[in-house]
Amino acid sequence: MKILEIDHIGIATKSIDQSAPFWNADLGLPAPEKETVAEQKVTTLLLLAGGSEIELLEATAPESAIAKFITNRGEGMHHIALRVENIEDALRELRDKGIRLIDEKPRKGARESTVAFIHPQSTHGVLVELVQRD
Ligand code: ZN
Repeated sequence: MKILEIDHIGIATKSIDQSAPFWNADLGLPAPEKETVAEQKVTTLLLLAGGSEIELLEATAPESAIAKFITNRGEGMHHIALRVENIEDALRELRDKGIRLIDEKPRKGARESTVAFIHPQSTHGVLVELVQRD
């Protein structure tokens, strides 16, 4: 498995429209794209921060994982995403090492990426997302 870089940091927010101005206007991070990922029941706004990104996440339905997260823990940091060369290889390797996965198979993420989450039980409390961009 080859980790290339921190792809982005995901932040759970009740409202992208209300939270984006801090990142966009106050910090000056460009925010080119808002995108809804129906499969994950979230709308995302990606803010460019050098080589990495800040990903604001807003639930589009009450059963969304983001809505549940905010109910349980409030708004704030949700996950760290690591970009990998090959997500299938990474998942296979982690499974072989006994790491607990949320996604056994990669699924569709924002902007044509493929993503999979590792369970926080195996990472000492951090939700880690693997991302492959082609
Ligand atoms: Zn993410």
